[in-house]
Amino acid sequence: MTTALLLQDADPFQLISDFLESPLLRISGQLLVLLVIVVWLSLVYWTYADAKRRGAIPLLWGLVAVVFPYLGSLIYVIVRPPEFLSESRERELELAYLEGELRSRVSLCPNCRNMVENDFLVCPVCNWELKKPCINCDRPMSMEWETCPYCGTDQRSGKKLI
Ligand SMILES: [Zn+2]
Ligand SMILES: [Zn+2]
Repeated sequence: MTTALLLQDADPFQLISDFLESPLLRISGQLLVLLVIVVWLSLVYWTYADAKRRGAIPLLWGLVAVVFPYLGSLIYVIVRPPEFLSESRERELELAYLEGELRSRVSLCPNCRNMVENDFLVCPVCNWELKKPCINCDRPMSMEWETCPYCGTDQRSGKKLI
């Protein structure tokens, strides 16, 4: 018998099952399974590490990623906190700094509660007298101060104390 005749007589299902049992396919199938497992484990690690960085509960999210391969990590990406912990802490510090900076330069007018800069002599909104200028150096002084803290001049006698 020739090869052509052999192929003609062969059962087509037999050909398919031969193909499925071929070592090449078995190896590619095993490699695919291995790849799926490696990606899954990487996702578990990534989920754990990302949750740790963002201040979420890393053990819980790592476990979710283990129990629900792929899906767990996907859910984590959807519900994870929006930014890294260190970033939000940095922003908080920055805000606190800016607030402090603002407070050191700005206060509220005791009369109309509008914001006035600390060296304003008069409130620009309601004309309330906020500070008085030193009789010697003209720097803004609190109304109750007797002596200018900048140049040491007594405001009533005009004498320099230092
Ligand atoms: Zn005012
Ligand atoms: Zn002065």
